[in-house]
Amino acid sequence: MNWTDFARWGARIADWGAHYHQGLRERPVRAGTRPGEVAAALPACPPETPEAMEAIFADFEQIVMPGMTHWQHPRFFAYFPANATPPSMLAEFLANTVAAQCMLWQTSPAATEMETVMMDWLRQSVGLPEGFKGVIQDSASSATLAAVLTMRERALDWAGNEQGLSSQPRLRVYCSGEVHTSIDRAIWISGIGAANLVRIPTQGPRRSMDPAALDAAIRADLAAGLHPCGVIACTGGTGTGACDDIAATLAVAKAHGLYTHVDAAWAGAAMICPEFRELWTGIEGADSIVFNPHKWLGVQFDCAAHFLRDPEPLVRTLAIRPEYLKTHGADGIVNYSEWSIPLGRRFRALKLWFVLRHYGLEGLRTRIRNHVRWSQALADRLRADPRFEIMTEPVLSLFTFRLKGADEAAQQAFINRINDDGRIYITQTRVQDGLVIRFQVGQFDATEADVATAFEVITALAGNG
Ligand code: PLP
Repeated sequence: MNWTDFARWGARIADWGAHYHQGLRERPVRAGTRPGEVAAALPACPPETPEAMEAIFADFEQIVMPGMTHWQHPRFFAYFPANATPPSMLAEFLANTVAAQCMLWQTSPAATEMETVMMDWLRQSVGLPEGFKGVIQDSASSATLAAVLTMRERALDWAGNEQGLSSQPRLRVYCSGEVHTSIDRAIWISGIGAANLVRIPTQGPRRSMDPAALDAAIRADLAAGLHPCGVIACTGGTGTGACDDIAATLAVAKAHGLYTHVDAAWAGAAMICPEFRELWTGIEGADSIVFNPHKWLGVQFDCAAHFLRDPEPLVRTLAIRPEYLKTHGADGIVNYSEWSIPLGRRFRALKLWFVLRHYGLEGLRTRIRNHVRWSQALADRLRADPRFEIMTEPVLSLFTFRLKGADEAAQQAFINRINDDGRIYITQTRVQDGLVIRFQVGQFDATEADVATAFEVITALAGNG
């Protein structure tokens, strides 16, 4: 492809993208594809000879698009959002076109310095104190893994990286049962082992880790000769939005000298609104915090903001410095690849810059506040209908409910009916071991009317209860 054709196709795809987004409400939210259908439509072998872009694009429309679930659909109420705003897409187009590999300051000074400044803009936006330093990770899972490796190495005085874990004391990490399973995976990958992830019971309407039980568990482990190394708290757990009492949890962890990580992957974005910051009161005491602008801030996947009170232990844990990666003669620069697990890095800060400037914090706050308000109003409307019961009250824009008196099969059948209908998309979770319906509002183009449509679909498909 020559650059003239590139420009022509770029314009055509931008045009296609605008129509796609403008027409999203006409499409079913979730793909209706059967397993194997897309693979069966693709040739088993790669082509030996070149094919025309026209043919490739036609197949994209005919084979790929019917097999896509539309995450940018305004009536996407499943999982958490993965918002991609137009300025974010344009920034990604630019970053992809310049296509730099930004692993070191010198491999793209603008990318590194933009990242430093954008992470400081974000730090201020969510009210973290000066002194916290940020890095963009590809995902919250990676940030959590980096934090778990740091807590491991800090506890072992960096002997784990050097000698392996076989001759080390048995490490222990503490969290509630409400944290995302990426925490479990970080514990497996780090070699700490699932058996050493201690689940602390939760209490209260926010399903928070019980700080007294946390303290007792740490003391019991110490008495048994085990080696506590860290605590992982959550603000806005995935299932129901559980929030630990960050101040009380961190106070216990600090009293025992443990490293602390707070996973606020979804809820962290809402902290740009000062009125929601009470959900993570005490956050300034955390060693490590992650939230995903790629969820609720309009900065498309992938963009996980990882803040560190002191980056030094993380860098000491993760940095690799072979000769070929050394930046001679550039003192005082940061090489962000030393702060993360992959070496290669995309220019992710550009889309943050575009989005923050295009909407301004006020524009972003308005969206989040609307989502919270509309979600809470929907919960109230469902509560007023005797066929439903609210199972967990809204935390920000997430709540759970179920059909009153229906067994699991009936709940699942109800969810399937809703998703097969296509006008909205929702998912399920478990509350006290029972299947419930999970509902969150977060897509950036969602309107109050879209949430009203959700009410219509849910009530129309619920039957007589
Ligand atoms: N933490 C929480 C609370 C989440 O809800 C999720 C995903 O939804 C994750 C972590 C994992 O996020 P990522 O896909 O960025 O790894």
